[in-house]
Amino acid sequence: MPWRPSDDLAQAVALEVLLHGPLPRIELARRLDLAPATLTRISAELIDAGLLIEAPHLAERRNGRPSIPLDVVSDAHHFLGIKLSTDSVMAAVTDLRAEVVDYFELPLSSADPATVVQGIHAATEQAGSTYPIDAIGIGVGGVVTREGVVTSAPFLGWTDVPLAAMVQERTGIPAFAANDLAAFTEAQHWFGLGIGHDNFAAITLGVGVGFGCVANGRLLANDDSGVGLVGHWPLDPNGRTCVKGHRGCAEAMLTVPAIVRNASDAMGRPVDWGEFLTLVHEGEPEAVRIASDSGRALGRLIAAVANLVAPSLVIVGGEGVELADVAAEAVQRGIREDRDPRAAPVHVELTSGSNTSWCRGAAVIALQGYVLDRRRVGSRRG
Ligand SMILES: [Zn+2]
Repeated sequence: MPWRPSDDLAQAVALEVLLHGPLPRIELARRLDLAPATLTRISAELIDAGLLIEAPHLAERRNGRPSIPLDVVSDAHHFLGIKLSTDSVMAAVTDLRAEVVDYFELPLSSADPATVVQGIHAATEQAGSTYPIDAIGIGVGGVVTREGVVTSAPFLGWTDVPLAAMVQERTGIPAFAANDLAAFTEAQHWFGLGIGHDNFAAITLGVGVGFGCVANGRLLANDDSGVGLVGHWPLDPNGRTCVKGHRGCAEAMLTVPAIVRNASDAMGRPVDWGEFLTLVHEGEPEAVRIASDSGRALGRLIAAVANLVAPSLVIVGGEGVELADVAAEAVQRGIREDRDPRAAPVHVELTSGSNTSWCRGAAVIALQGYVLDRRRVGSRRG
């Protein structure tokens, strides 16, 4: 069943119900400033097309008459979201509301583009045996054009790989690729903590430090998004140095590898991320000091973002998100140091840093491309 509302107005109604539904007709008419008769015509058409259904179990009585909300048929469409590492393809299947209904990983023998595309094809076949896949989204740590060309992905060793086109050609299914942080931020925007916020920022902690921003309801992005420009933001004049020689930059203070390296040096033996967190919980003094220094640096980064971009919410996620939890006090201290006390408190929320959440972000890129019918690679419809 295709997602093809007949015109822009029908598209607007369908999107409003997708993003904010279930909604009663009267509320939909108010939100979109439509005459009731117009909405009645459009909703009948969308119900006929199988895009919307009435949800009588959610009916409320208004002025004595029951008002039956409209909802999307969320399990009528499925999207495959892919996260790539150098040795595996991670895949999540979502429905139309970006709820993850399946997740699995497949090994890769190498990270060269042909092998990766073959791996994505295998994942599509596996997912497709249970769920018909409407579109594929791939999140890549690197610079990705709107057309889905990966111009640079250092960790994969890729330059100018037309990934979306290759996947679409191999699978025969519409495919979209985007920078993984842009995908994560879009997922928060449409279906996550960013719902209801026209201005919010996302910071991710992991192998690198990522920053994404939605301003006036739109993702801020340009050709340099994906270079990782926040990675060397200075945060602690007494911190350790990064590979580029900056003292106390975001990469030196906040990435999981940097924190683990600090902890291992301090303990005189290899310490991984899980053990580091355990040591902090147990109150091991060196681990607590490292968590506190890094937590304060995170607070200063959050304050910088809040001061410069004025978001109503800062979302922290990524594999290293637990830092914000185990060092919560230091994070608040760092924010206070760099935030004028007359300014509103910074609203910070933490979200999952799992691989599933990155895959879900990629699935949302597929979902958006599909329902907005944009960036269709090789589309005959333009
Ligand atoms: Zn640096």
